Amino acid sequence: MSAGSTAIPVATPQVRPGDETAPITLQMAPRRRGKPPRHFADLTAEERVAAVETLGVKGFRAKQLATHYFAHFTANPADWTDIPAASRDALASDLFPPLLRATRTLTADKGTTVKTLWHLYDETRMESVLMRYPKRSTLCISSQVGCGMACPFCATGQMGFTRNLSTAEMLEQVRYAMLSLDRGEIPGGPARLNNLVFMGMGEGLINYKSMLAAIRTLVAEPPNGFGMSARHITVSTVGLVPGINKLADEGLPLTLALSLHAPDDDLRSELVPINTRYNVDEALDAAYNYFRATKRRVSIEYALIKDMNDHAWRADLLGSKLNKRGRGWVHVNPIPLNPTPGSIWTASDRDVEDEFVARLRAHGIPTTIRDTRGSDIDGACGQLAAEEEDPA
Ligand code: SAH
Repeated sequence: MSAGSTAIPVATPQVRPGDETAPITLQMAPRRRGKPPRHFADLTAEERVAAVETLGVKGFRAKQLATHYFAHFTANPADWTDIPAASRDALASDLFPPLLRATRTLTADKGTTVKTLWHLYDETRMESVLMRYPKRSTLCISSQVGCGMACPFCATGQMGFTRNLSTAEMLEQVRYAMLSLDRGEIPGGPARLNNLVFMGMGEGLINYKSMLAAIRTLVAEPPNGFGMSARHITVSTVGLVPGINKLADEGLPLTLALSLHAPDDDLRSELVPINTRYNVDEALDAAYNYFRATKRRVSIEYALIKDMNDHAWRADLLGSKLNKRGRGWVHVNPIPLNPTPGSIWTASDRDVEDEFVARLRAHGIPTTIRDTRGSDIDGACGQLAAEEEDPA
């Protein structure tokens, strides 16, 4: 245990040896077994044609449906005026089962930050957060219901893991955000979605296959996908080394964010329990390898926790560990800790935060404090717990 830290018991996540996609030991039993129903957005362009033909509808209708879905963000058969009325019901019920039901939306920042609580087909819950800025908009989506990584400062980590989201459950979060921006529902007039971050609930690299399929559809040009830029999609991870290496080989210029939170193993093993399996140096090596493979600058996330990980010597240690691997490959994103229920930790004091940033910059590491939008609606990093009501 490290100086100034306070031990709180956490479940230790486990990954089967050699398999980064193995399920994490469940801390909470799934409510219901089974998979979400298959949805149009789960399918590749070829599979969509086959699915449409199975219903006795001509294959070219798949492209029309894809245009409605990916270019106009609608899955409502009433909007499919170019499709014969007689086929619409069968197509809708077979290929567009309702997957997400918004049961609560909370807004902050004059309506420009919106957190949505979604109920899924099995009544499990997850959340996404849309943030509109003057010149861009960013959506933070979930990849799992809950999370098995058990980071003690994160509300989602404290819930435990329930299940992976399907590809379509991820893409539906995106479609609803695009629809809402397109319709001008967010103050500032109609807009497009520019950035997507996998920083909601869950560890996306555990749900690798479904997440990658979602990403491939996000970047595919309309009508086959949403046409987003891979450069504007960020995958954030606790540092699952095999998953990072695999992502580096996909040939996609995605942005990788590594949740480091400490430069030394003693403390990191406490803050990010998976560190006992993939330690600081291994995670940093994988992140550097990701940069070399993709030429994308990696982002290091570092929640600044008062008297825990915010010491000047830790900033120096982080700076030298990053520089030891290379120059210009990384930037650091310190995040003042957001409060979570039951947590005894708080954000670092402002002067300590400033010193931490100054030290990193003195090492030549580009460093920018992450803005913590949505903390007043429990919608900021680490606060997503899919609560139905405000915590009392
Ligand atoms: N499983 C992924 C995504 C998690 S959320 C990952 O670990 O990267 C995105 C970021 O929010 C992570 O860096 C996470 O460590 C951070 N975070 C979690 N709880 C936080 C809190 N209370 N305050 C600030 N950041 C937090």
